[in-house]
Amino acid sequence: MSKSEYFDAAWQRTQFCGTVDEQSDGKEIIVNGWVRCHRNLGGIIFIQLWDYKGVLQIVFSPEFGDVHERAKSLRSEYVIAVRGKVLRRPAGTENENISTGNVELIANDFLLLSPALPLPFEIGDETDAVDESLRLTYRYLDLRRDRMQSNIRVRSKIAAFTREYFDSKEFVEIETPMLTKATPEGARDYLVPSRVNPGEFYALPQSPQIFKQILMISGFDKYYQIVRCFRDEDLRADRQPDFTQLDIEMSYITEKDIQELIEGYMSGLFKKILGLDIKTPFKRMSYWEAIDKYGSDKPDLRIPIEFSDLAPVFSKAEFEPFKVILSEGGVIRALPLPGGASLSRKELTTIEERAKKLGASGLAAFQFKDGEIKGALVKFLKSSEIEELIQISNIADGDALFVIAGNDRRKTCERLGTLRLELAKEHGLIAENAWELLWVTDFPLFEWDEEGKRWSAVHHPFTSPNLDDLDKLDKDPGNVRSRAYDCVLNGVEIGGGSIRIHDPKVQEKAFSALAFTSETARERFGFLLDALASGTPPHGGIAFGIDRITMLLCGEQSIRDVIAFPKNQHARCPLSGAPTVVEDKRLEELKISVKSGEKKAEN
Ligand code: ASP
Repeated sequence: MSKSEYFDAAWQRTQFCGTVDEQSDGKEIIVNGWVRCHRNLGGIIFIQLWDYKGVLQIVFSPEFGDVHERAKSLRSEYVIAVRGKVLRRPAGTENENISTGNVELIANDFLLLSPALPLPFEIGDETDAVDESLRLTYRYLDLRRDRMQSNIRVRSKIAAFTREYFDSKEFVEIETPMLTKATPEGARDYLVPSRVNPGEFYALPQSPQIFKQILMISGFDKYYQIVRCFRDEDLRADRQPDFTQLDIEMSYITEKDIQELIEGYMSGLFKKILGLDIKTPFKRMSYWEAIDKYGSDKPDLRIPIEFSDLAPVFSKAEFEPFKVILSEGGVIRALPLPGGASLSRKELTTIEERAKKLGASGLAAFQFKDGEIKGALVKFLKSSEIEELIQISNIADGDALFVIAGNDRRKTCERLGTLRLELAKEHGLIAENAWELLWVTDFPLFEWDEEGKRWSAVHHPFTSPNLDDLDKLDKDPGNVRSRAYDCVLNGVEIGGGSIRIHDPKVQEKAFSALAFTSETARERFGFLLDALASGTPPHGGIAFGIDRITMLLCGEQSIRDVIAFPKNQHARCPLSGAPTVVEDKRLEELKISVKSGEKKAEN
């Protein structure tokens, strides 16, 4: 190859493909990019040349002899530099679908910068037809697609806006260590062996929780960080082993301060990214209100149906099974379905089967049709009770009402909550273009862990109890409310945080309620307890999932579509092949041996 065949300043683009328009008519320009689609029509070669701003039609005409000849060998995704003259397209050949559709570039020379192997899939393919494992294996090609380009660029804009916003509010971005000690956020840690300290392990941070609290004790008052966190969990569509949080902590604040700060941030973000004004303050709802009305601690308020409590009706009615449930402290909840009166017997049975699969012992249905209520339970109700049922559940002629009963308030409501989501989807009840943001507050501090037979923290062990419930900490841990809050967008929990315990004595009490012996608490969090005892401002914070926020703002269904190099559902990176086995020599250095039968490197 001679030097003249290499890229230099003489071949550098003078314009981006995607920005060429009539204003350049007659001008000589240079563009650089990837060959998208190429066609040979009656001897004339047409190419769509792509750069990240768009595509431009390039025309290689036989009148440029050698150039035209060389252009015949161009293939998809070859990288070229083209010099030529911009011309308006002949009338009738314009393409309205692209921004440069009124012009084309008549090439008089080009330089092949890099050929490409035959492709595993078409880059221009904007559908989801391409298998995801193929997309992830050839992520460099997948990322060249317009949709992925747009998602990753939106993500960068979100990060830029975030830094601008928090900087303007005098927050300090502080990096916390990646090689650190376990922080309990309820997942398994990723462990990293220490070569210098054989037999000892770092944990990759599940969150910077302890460090950010210590930063408050160190006098930084307003901290934030866009930070990578790691949780070794079984993967679902919205989980990744490593993910990105917007992490925030502030001193001398109450819940209201954090919530207002975030409402300002979110409305700025929506304006910047989507050009939309969102309503502030966000709605607020206690955990139990969310469970009782929507059967979820992250209710999707785009769905305009909510549960009603039918205890007043069934405590009077002569229907034994429900009476018993109520007398044992259980609940009866009803979900209306607008238009549900037209569901067939068979459809109702299918819905009941689904409820049973979710763990319900049954599901009773009422249908309100032509002024009359129908359903298997009608015969147990007096007409005054039917009147009351209609009034409480607020159903109208044409609707159906699904009733569920159970002893466990949360589980019973959650089963109906799952049905609410499914039926809303199937019956087109979700206001697709709406953005529903809300705060869910007053979570329980602890939940009973059946397996471990002990209380565990719903949020994390540093969350402050509601001050009115302090005396229940030892006697009645299950009924202690916390000062935790979640931020929910369209049924997705996008952030969560709390006011923290800043009194070491309360912190020790919380550890003991969580069945940490004082030795374990010391061993694991002694440094935090010591720090808390050295002058700690009251403080609190929150963390947001940047991947989830980006996914929602991009209208995607999976966070993998907004992460440049995600893992697949087996926690593997199909592009690099990680994780991989390592050579024995490396393991020896780390004083680690892999059990026989497990995967080992072939030396
Ligand atoms: N560290 C918590 C989490 O990662 C958030 C917080 O309490 O600020 O979920």
